[in-house]
Amino acid sequence: MSNSPTQPRKDEDFHSQSPNQDINWEDYRDHLATADKDGHRRWLYPKKPSGKWFRWRTWFSWVLIALMFLGPWIRINGNPLLMINILERRFSILGQIFWPQDTVIFAVAMLVFITSIIIFTTAFGRLWCGWACPQTVMMEMVFRKIEYLIEGDSAEQRALDAAPWTAKKFLKKFSKQFIFLALSFIVGNTLFAYIVGSEKLLAIQFDDPRNHIVGLTFMCLFTLLFYGIFARFREQACTFICPYGRFMSAAIDENTLVVAYDYKRGEKRGPLHRGQSFDQRKAEGNGDCVACRQCVAVCPTGIDIRNGTQMECVNCTACIDACDTIMDKVGRPRGLIRFASLNNIEHGEKQCFTKRMLLYTVVLSALVSLFLFLVFTRAAVETTFLRAPGALFQQTAEGRIDNIYTVKVINKTSKDLPVEFKIENLAGSLRVMSPGQFIVPKEKLAQTSVIIELDPKRLTGASTKLEIGIYSGGKLLETVKTGFVGPR
Ligand code: SF4
Ligand code: SF4
Repeated sequence: MSNSPTQPRKDEDFHSQSPNQDINWEDYRDHLATADKDGHRRWLYPKKPSGKWFRWRTWFSWVLIALMFLGPWIRINGNPLLMINILERRFSILGQIFWPQDTVIFAVAMLVFITSIIIFTTAFGRLWCGWACPQTVMMEMVFRKIEYLIEGDSAEQRALDAAPWTAKKFLKKFSKQFIFLALSFIVGNTLFAYIVGSEKLLAIQFDDPRNHIVGLTFMCLFTLLFYGIFARFREQACTFICPYGRFMSAAIDENTLVVAYDYKRGEKRGPLHRGQSFDQRKAEGNGDCVACRQCVAVCPTGIDIRNGTQMECVNCTACIDACDTIMDKVGRPRGLIRFASLNNIEHGEKQCFTKRMLLYTVVLSALVSLFLFLVFTRAAVETTFLRAPGALFQQTAEGRIDNIYTVKVINKTSKDLPVEFKIENLAGSLRVMSPGQFIVPKEKLAQTSVIIELDPKRLTGASTKLEIGIYSGGKLLETVKTGFVGPR
């Protein structure tokens, strides 16, 4: 699919104004739309999009933005909706706390994630990038809109940048950068809250700064990082940094739905002359594309979708809206640029569920089932019950044999758990060496020592297998195995 369904064509009238005018359009695939022939960045001034798709995208974005900013503050069973605390190795997904020990669940979760991406990309191309990626959503729906509000649409922005510095220009530029920085601070803090948790974030913000030098440093770094991305780096992040864009090329095929130009209907492109009808155009060998370049003008990555599917396209649909508006004006049916597969455009085939997608779906369903099974059958605690290192067995005055054990219990729940131990497979006594009841605090690991005494008659050899039940409130949480040593 990386080979264009269309041949590159020149539009001389446009290239004279294009940011990419130094590019030889016959070998445009060797060039970036946002760089000149010397590799210098060409700043993009995408035109303000409008239309049906943009309205839907706006509504969807507001939902995502609300979710993104509220996410760290939403609690399920007292746990964050999502927290990826790499520093303390604590993770919360949909209110379920995961520990580094949950490696199998993590491995399956990663497989589910990767398989979902492959299936989604195979079916819908880079829909994620244009519609749900936080970078695009924040850039196009927040930062870009603020830019339009302060500096105006594409032409006004170009004029402002070209104009000499005046008090008005300074005020516009300064206020835009100030708002960008303030917003970047909020975005950076939100990401930070997803990492350290909202309570820790509040502590860093309101506690004595001397106690949180590292946290405050990260807050500043995150702010500067996002300011750099949204104020300057912009579409370059999608083109150069994001691995998903690179991966996309391997996942899509001729049945993948992408934003595509119907070259069969559009070519040969050419301006619509006054009084010219489309029947006349057709007779002259022209198609529906009137070479107005509105699809290029609105593109936030600076590409011309008429050259075919390209790595930079994030499927934002701005060009669909722009072209539909033109088609309405010239009285032709909408959809010259639309969501379509290569097979749909070339052969008129409807989107179909391919064998590859079927296979991926079967694998994904199996992985999701396994993941859910592991999550919902996961014990509330994880216990290691090992003989104390270096300790030998002892014989009591009554002739019984005792062993001492070190016990570590991880409480994966969000409430403190009083824990008891019982020998399940043999008669014997078990004493916990902690004073009072052994309580494992929520989301924490607690350790204690346990002495087990057995009648020598019960021993089956130098090492006897023991099964220990871990209980809380009379409920068996899990059973662990350990060994009991005695005389040969
Ligand atoms: S080509 Fe169209 S869909 Fe792709 S990034 Fe540009 S405007 Fe968005
Ligand atoms: S907006 Fe539509 S008609 Fe205009 S140049 Fe693009 S594809 Fe052609």
